[in-house]
Amino acid sequence: MQQPNLSRYIPMSRRRRIYEGKAKILYEGPEPGTLIQHFKDDATAYNARKKDVIDGKGVLNNRISEHIFNHLNEMGIPTHFIRRLNMREQLIREVEIIPLEVVVRNVAAGSLAKRLGLEEGTQLPRSIIEFYYKNDELEDPLVTEEHITAFGWATPQELDDIMALAVRVNDFLAGLFLGVGIRLVDFKMECGRLWENDLMRVVVADEISPDSARLWDIKTDDKEAKVLDKDRFRRDLGGLLEAYQEVARRLGIMPEQERPIVSGPTLVQS
Ligand code: UDP
Repeated sequence: MQQPNLSRYIPMSRRRRIYEGKAKILYEGPEPGTLIQHFKDDATAYNARKKDVIDGKGVLNNRISEHIFNHLNEMGIPTHFIRRLNMREQLIREVEIIPLEVVVRNVAAGSLAKRLGLEEGTQLPRSIIEFYYKNDELEDPLVTEEHITAFGWATPQELDDIMALAVRVNDFLAGLFLGVGIRLVDFKMECGRLWENDLMRVVVADEISPDSARLWDIKTDDKEAKVLDKDRFRRDLGGLLEAYQEVARRLGIMPEQERPIVSGPTLVQS
């Protein structure tokens, strides 16, 4: 049997914590240039004014995000993801996060619907990319490309790379979810600068999960019943874990034993 490489094993308690966010913690990785991304069960909304702990959410987001990032890597869309390590953690490449939330929208919902007075669920004439400046104190304001380049958050070349990545990720995700009866309304992604020797590449970072996307069941018309994402928490609809499990199940990534029993009771014959 192969022995574990003990020199590389860092016990949880002695790992150096690099950063703690609302739903994730980043630890020092086993090798230079790597980090461990740990998914917590904490759910927050409205800039953390609403908070809760939902047992098992972190495990599901870790699995769903792993599934998506593996596909992106396979398709040649560069990401920070290396591999999943365990139920709650993944090994990632250390990147310099670009302080933008890149939101891609296919259907009007959330803040866009409110800002422009659009009815939720209206198909947009084409996919729209928006940028929000990542800053909790300012509550992540919507910014334009002009702000981004003027203040140096990203260069014009990086912005082009980010938009090209956003379009590719959106095309892939929309197809992936459509194939399992889910409408990709919108999602948020983050990008980072990955240094390889003297070369820098912009890659997809952070996570992509039902915490950061709007996912609606295609066959359900009911405005509440169709929601399979974090809006269940934001709008106090309940059933968040069941919704995330349903997304994981449809993507074919639920462990066999966790699948809900779908067949009816068996008739016992005497
Ligand atoms: N989003 C996110 N983190 C944020 C804000 C938004 O992941 O801090 C995601 C959100 O889940 C949705 C998309 O970005 O899929 C667009 O969100 P929107 O601007 O409509 O804001 P919201 O109405 O969610 O506050």
